[in-house]
Amino acid sequence: MLDRGEGRGYNHREAMNSEAKLKILLTRQEIEATVKRLAAEINQDYAGKYPVLIGILKGSFVFMADLIRLLDFPLEVEFINLSSYGSGTESSGRVRVVQGLRAKVRGRHVLVIEDIVDTGLTIAYFIEYLKKRKPASLRLCTLTDKASRRRVPVTIDYVGFTVPDRFLVGYGLDRDQKYRNLPDICYIE
Ligand code: 5GP
Ligand code: MG
Repeated sequence: MLDRGEGRGYNHREAMNSEAKLKILLTRQEIEATVKRLAAEINQDYAGKYPVLIGILKGSFVFMADLIRLLDFPLEVEFINLSSYGSGTESSGRVRVVQGLRAKVRGRHVLVIEDIVDTGLTIAYFIEYLKKRKPASLRLCTLTDKASRRRVPVTIDYVGFTVPDRFLVGYGLDRDQKYRNLPDICYIE
């Protein structure tokens, strides 16, 4: 039987120490407090509405899961796969819609959920894609904002943390598909 909590078989701290030089940037407690703060803002703004939340895969799935459970209005959840990063740590600048968007965006209140806005290329592309489909309103929420790296302007309505120019992993963020399960947000030294 699997233990809960500290006794679980996969020890994050051990993995972090042995495998890669990972340092915690944002603890799970800090993330939790920030997700609560964002949810409170979003609850105020969307009271009485029925929006569709669109998460950008894969990185946003952990944030999305925590965020929606604190939202108290009816909503729909969709995901879209936009790929701009290859297997390294540098943005390729190339963006493609890997999987089509099934939500009917026209006339809907749309809230896009991102894990991180870096150069802005990915999200700027997707915002234009959505605008063409004539939503009733369109807003963007990101857990983290690497503002110093921006190459195209992006309006972000809800920002969790402004983060330094480091490659982040954990809480949904990966490097080569690893580390998404870390409960804290870490950077690779
Ligand atoms: P952008 O197009 O803004 O440069 O890149 C946005 C996407 O690149 C994010 O949605 C995220 O998937 C990925 N990305 C950017 N910075 C980081 C980072 O520090 N760590 C990880 N894991 N992904 C990142
Ligand atoms: Mg992403």
